[in-house]
Amino acid sequence: MLIIGSHVSMSAPGYLKSAVEEALAYNANTFMFYTGAPQNTKRKEIAELNVEQAKKMMIDNDIDIKNIVVHAPYIINLANTTKEETFSLAVSFLKQEIKRVEEIGAQYLVLHPGSHVNAGEQIGLEQIVKGLNEVLEQDSSVFICLESMSGKGSELGKKFEELKYIIDNVKHKHLLKVCLDTCHLHDAGYDLVNDFENVLNEFDNIIGLEYLKVFHINDSKNPCGASKDRHENIGYGYIGFETLNRIVNHPKLVNVIKILETPWHEGKPYYKKEIDMFRKQLFEEGYRNNELSD
Ligand code: FE
Ligand code: FE
Ligand code: ZN
Repeated sequence: MLIIGSHVSMSAPGYLKSAVEEALAYNANTFMFYTGAPQNTKRKEIAELNVEQAKKMMIDNDIDIKNIVVHAPYIINLANTTKEETFSLAVSFLKQEIKRVEEIGAQYLVLHPGSHVNAGEQIGLEQIVKGLNEVLEQDSSVFICLESMSGKGSELGKKFEELKYIIDNVKHKHLLKVCLDTCHLHDAGYDLVNDFENVLNEFDNIIGLEYLKVFHINDSKNPCGASKDRHENIGYGYIGFETLNRIVNHPKLVNVIKILETPWHEGKPYYKKEIDMFRKQLFEEGYRNNELSD
């Protein structure tokens, strides 16, 4: 069975309960959310998030809480070596975030590995390893899923080898998994359109398919290798529906959680339609306009 959903918001007053409701409105059986605003580190107490009601709603609607995904805020940067407080904030925030994920009962926390700023790739990678070693505790039940990045600016994690380096050098590597993002892979230069099988084999050879837990499914506004990271609606970008559909419905990826992070237009997301197209494996030409005119 396809495990597919989208990014949803978890905000007042319903919090986790409204996140579940939003996912159900898209006919999703999973979802991804931030535990608070992604641009800051202020967080509500778990007791205020309606977790019990949300859990009941998930059970009633066949959403397995083990498949829901939390995304760490994008402002934290474990790779930073130039500002001590940036690194220490990342470490302390992540420790607390793992506790929150644990309390909610989820198990996957997606993390952008970090940007080395101007320090250089190797120094940035070593700093990420150092940070994760401070963050991860042996008996934790939460997996950190390192997200593959497009390589814009000084982002690390654009190559499988970089993710592999982090995994290999972290002490509790049993707590590390990987989140691939189709837009990021494509922008980083991986040719999904002509050679997805080869990209998957390369991932398997370098990191191992058993590490792959989450796949962000996005089209891209830019050509392969552009190092840009601008998401596009499914079928409207350079990757296209056919390739994305092949990935979503790939037999080797049935147990991988698929999450859409595609753009909204005029205040509306297209997640419901996009999920529906992947379930039917059928592209609906011009759906963006069709949806808007409804
Ligand atoms: Fe991300
Ligand atoms: Fe992503
Ligand atoms: Zn992105």
